Amino acid sequence: MNNNRIYLSLSQESGFEQEYIQKALKSNWITSGGPNVDEFENELQNYFDKGKFVAALNSGTSAIHLALLLLGVKEDDEVISQSMTFAASANPILYQKAIPILVDSEPETWNICPEYLDIAIKDRIQKGKKPKAIIAVHLYGMPYKVDEVHAIAEKYEIPIIEDSAEAFGSSYKGKKCGQFGTFGIISFNGNKIITASSGGALIANSQKTKDKAIFYATQSKDNAAHYQHSELGYNYRMSNICAGIGLGQMKVLENNISARRNNHLFYKEVFKEIKNVKLFDNSNEDFFSNYWLSTILLDTQEEREKLRITFDKANVESRPLWKPMHLQPLFENYPYYGNKVSQELFEKGLCLPSGSNLKNEDKIRIKEVIFSFF
Ligand SMILES: *Cc1c(COP(=O)(O)O)cnc(C)c1O
Repeated sequence: MNNNRIYLSLSQESGFEQEYIQKALKSNWITSGGPNVDEFENELQNYFDKGKFVAALNSGTSAIHLALLLLGVKEDDEVISQSMTFAASANPILYQKAIPILVDSEPETWNICPEYLDIAIKDRIQKGKKPKAIIAVHLYGMPYKVDEVHAIAEKYEIPIIEDSAEAFGSSYKGKKCGQFGTFGIISFNGNKIITASSGGALIANSQKTKDKAIFYATQSKDNAAHYQHSELGYNYRMSNICAGIGLGQMKVLENNISARRNNHLFYKEVFKEIKNVKLFDNSNEDFFSNYWLSTILLDTQEEREKLRITFDKANVESRPLWKPMHLQPLFENYPYYGNKVSQELFEKGLCLPSGSNLKNEDKIRIKEVIFSFF
């Protein structure tokens, strides 16, 4: 058996990308925008429910930034973000010179806690500013408590940006993630469910909003023969080559989702008998996770580190969970509402190899490490 490194989550060619890339090259559409981009957007729109409009962009981060722009977030505005997430969820708040307000997770979905969300909003209003938006995240593919979180947002009339970067293919009560918010975003970064080599998309509720997003994403060019600008613009559009990769990957989306879900089942079997490890699982059937990454909780941080190092010695990559934003040097001085739920998850949690190309022999090696460790 070989001892090649087993990674957390790698991109994988589907075999369908070449045709689209060739088409782009041969037609000299080697630029941002173009026929592949249009086709990719159409496929994404068909994937989601009627009434959703998708703008293909160069990253998921740009999609979040554009959502904030479209919601009119400006300097000194306050924007709530789930604290436990990848920095890309919250960084765009700072791009706008707005103020991040960070909220803890709840233990069932590991996502934004409805109780602390309500407390945070009330307190911010009392201090003089109603938050302009809420960024809620479906972390590791697990949907957040959509009904509870959206009920609170509606009560205070605050729009939600639904960070579905890790949850393409997940659903809540049968409805696909990315469609619950005023805006949804997905990512086609190399480590996600499918890749466009890099890329992202903004999911909007009207054609008009989608068009405005594309306007901002292509340097806000006014309607004139010369280059005329009355608004600040960005270079955020997806390239025609990347869209070709995305189109090729769309053909294996369902396949990748079942492969990741099978990885989760594999870990479920492995950890069945190990009492001091808790595999992160859906709390009930309302939550359908793509299980982008399979993750576990150990009893202590020391135990977590020991296991991580043991994996590493066996040439298997594993990683602690996302470090919450309120514990990051960049964000630690911004207001935080919560307790220690996300901090404990960070201390005790570990992400395990979860790629859709994880082979049987890889699983045997992973299982051996786990069984010898416990
Ligand atoms: C990957 C990711 C993003 C950003 O997507 P990019 O395409 O890499 O810019 C945003 N939020 C979360 C939670 C992510 O995992």
